Amino acid sequence: SPADGYRGRFAPSPTGPLHAGSLVAALGSWLDARKNRGKWLLRIEDLDTPRCVPGADQKIQAQLLACGLTWDEELTYQSQRQDHYQEALKRLNALKLLYPCTCSRQTIANTLAGLGIETPRNQEMVYPGTCRQIPQNIHSPELLKASKVAWRLALPENCHIEFEDLALGHQAQNLNTEVGDFVLRRNDGIFTYQLAVVVDDAVQGITHIVRGADLLSNTARQIHLQKILGYETPQYLHLPLVLDEYGEKLSKQTLATQINTQGEKHSLAELRKAAQHLGLNHLPDGESITIAEWLLAATHAWR
Ligand code: GLU
Ligand code: ZN
Repeated sequence: SPADGYRGRFAPSPTGPLHAGSLVAALGSWLDARKNRGKWLLRIEDLDTPRCVPGADQKIQAQLLACGLTWDEELTYQSQRQDHYQEALKRLNALKLLYPCTCSRQTIANTLAGLGIETPRNQEMVYPGTCRQIPQNIHSPELLKASKVAWRLALPENCHIEFEDLALGHQAQNLNTEVGDFVLRRNDGIFTYQLAVVVDDAVQGITHIVRGADLLSNTARQIHLQKILGYETPQYLHLPLVLDEYGEKLSKQTLATQINTQGEKHSLAELRKAAQHLGLNHLPDGESITIAEWLLAATHAWR
């Protein structure tokens, strides 16, 4: 059965310690993997170095271990896998699907304003294709390595992506009108999340992606990339977001407080909050239960 080959993962960015929201993603993906007798991999997504906090990767590992969320196989760091991303970029170049872009955020905003298009706050701007020029020939390898330009993926016309989310059901996005040609390598030379996550999920043979619903709007882009790179599309399950008292999603940017894993009692309390958020009710609530026992009960209760 497909469950025999289940491979899941948790892929935090080390921009700070785990908070209540990231623990929900960790626990949900861990439980889904364990329930399916699958593997659960840990990948540190540390490409966006300006946003990475030194030591956060160690802290995250310690927090996961304190919560009994152990991972299989050796953990990976995206910063050590740049060759893979460059290789994928080269393949897309060979397919003549890349073009360099020199637009700043301000240029894009101005162009959109000139077209009478307004971008709602909290939403990404749809790239209007200003620099789009489908190359007649592939770009030289030197140019492809150059920084100072961003590399965008040229979308085909009517790039409409649909998928079934295991929790949220049918999803659809038109990449042309809702996203535009998106960046794979930034003008500071950093490979983007979209490219790196697709390459790593494929190379690591990930079959199930369980993560927070804040990432839902990225999924169509990732499926499109999987298709042109010839990768399998995994199953997706997006978990409900944890909101703060103002109804905003918890994130490191909103300075969400880290979970307290000082001792088994506190760790268990954090796990219980996360489980409640995941809709797991009727789990043992006694004081004397160990984390291992509680996780076993939670695994049985999952879905
Ligand atoms: N690194 C991403 C984040 O922390 C998550 C990647 C993913 O699960 O696809 O938001
Ligand atoms: Zn441009």
